Amino acid sequence: MKSTDVIIVGGGVIGSLIAYYLHDYGIRSTIVERDGIGSQASGGAAGLFNPIMPSGTPEFFTEFAIESHKLHSRLAESLISETGVDYHYGPISVVRLAFSDNEIQEQINEYKRLESLSLNPRLLNGTDLFNYSEWLSPDVKSLLITDYEAQVEPYQLMIALAQSLEKRSCRLMTGDVIKILTNNTGSNGIKLKNGNVLYADRVVLANGPWINSFSTYIGSNLPIKPIRGQILKLRTPIKLPPYWISYGKGYIAPKLAGHVIAGTTEEDVGFFRETTEEASLSIMNSVLKISPVMHDATLLEATACLRPVSSKDNLPFLGTIPHIPNLYIAAGHGKKGILLSAATGKYMAQLIATGTADWDLAPYSIQRLNSP
Ligand SMILES: Cc1cc2nc3c(=O)[nH]c(=O)nc-3n(C[C@H](O)[C@H](O)[C@H](O)COP(=O)(O)OP(=O)(O)OC[C@H]3O[C@@H](n4cnc5c(N)ncnc54)[C@H](O)[C@@H]3O)c2cc1C
Repeated sequence: MKSTDVIIVGGGVIGSLIAYYLHDYGIRSTIVERDGIGSQASGGAAGLFNPIMPSGTPEFFTEFAIESHKLHSRLAESLISETGVDYHYGPISVVRLAFSDNEIQEQINEYKRLESLSLNPRLLNGTDLFNYSEWLSPDVKSLLITDYEAQVEPYQLMIALAQSLEKRSCRLMTGDVIKILTNNTGSNGIKLKNGNVLYADRVVLANGPWINSFSTYIGSNLPIKPIRGQILKLRTPIKLPPYWISYGKGYIAPKLAGHVIAGTTEEDVGFFRETTEEASLSIMNSVLKISPVMHDATLLEATACLRPVSSKDNLPFLGTIPHIPNLYIAAGHGKKGILLSAATGKYMAQLIATGTADWDLAPYSIQRLNSP
């Protein structure tokens, strides 16, 4: 007997936002999560919404990120007032640093690219840097600044989502899904490790880097792997300016909640989520290069979590599983899953509810694996 309309495997930001938007179509969903809602990368991420993709990114993907950025701004208005959970959504400028002549040239090229995208970047050097001298390394030669980004506290966002989902009659269930059930019409349920089964009209696989535990149903092993990222939570002696300051993989970001975060690493170490001293030291080295003020910072916490990285083309996998009707996938959002979650949720919900989505999801189909 059917117990819900749609089962969503995985209670990260992707699964939660699919459930959130499914409610707009009057569809009841059950999220089955084996750990806790937002307990993996979705709750432990840095929380930057930066839709400016690296050069070479397909235009359609940048447009998807921009759409998601806009949706998040609307979502924050309704979600925060509906639940009373302030997840500190707010704009933040991103400041990129250059120390060498080569890096200055790269910044000039990037400035031109961002200008051609009408993003109004600013390039500062020489005496312009004086205003930043209280905290910026004296070795910095130029700054490239954009004012297009926003940020959130990801764990608080997940709490707001969980509260809103409960009000929307979405069931949040603890369970480790080990099997997708099928009948002659396609997928119709799941089986849990404890032997329980749950039936539904449709099943969505939104379990991040663990997606390949369902490769038998998907038809092949997807090129998605866990890439560990570590972050330090710090208290700084002076209040840092409201900028997300980045250099290479290193960044320092003052959060609206009052602390500062510093990151990060990209480690191909399988499903190990432990923090390491080596990573903390490497992050602190990057941070000290950015700002000598960080010498006197106090470490509050170190965390590690796993990005679901799509190693073939950096694009997530969104859509149907063609050979099993009523089975869907939404996984592989890499370094920008918090940002991409709103558009993923909205258009996946529309696809599930109506059979088509207003946004073209074809480039994210698993069928692209068949093309060279
Ligand atoms: C250090 C770091 C910093 C980041 N910073 C940013 C950022 O600033 N901006 C941004 O946009 N993105 C950022 N990201 C990326 C972002 O966190 C991820 O892309 C996003 O959280 C992926 O969401 P998800 O729901 O697909 O996966 P997850 O959050 O991993 O959720 C998947 C869930 O599925 C559950 N699950 C797995 N298998 C099963 C099963 N068999 N049965 C039941 N449940 C199961 C897991 O327990 C998990 O909770 C960052 C990531 C890291 C690691």
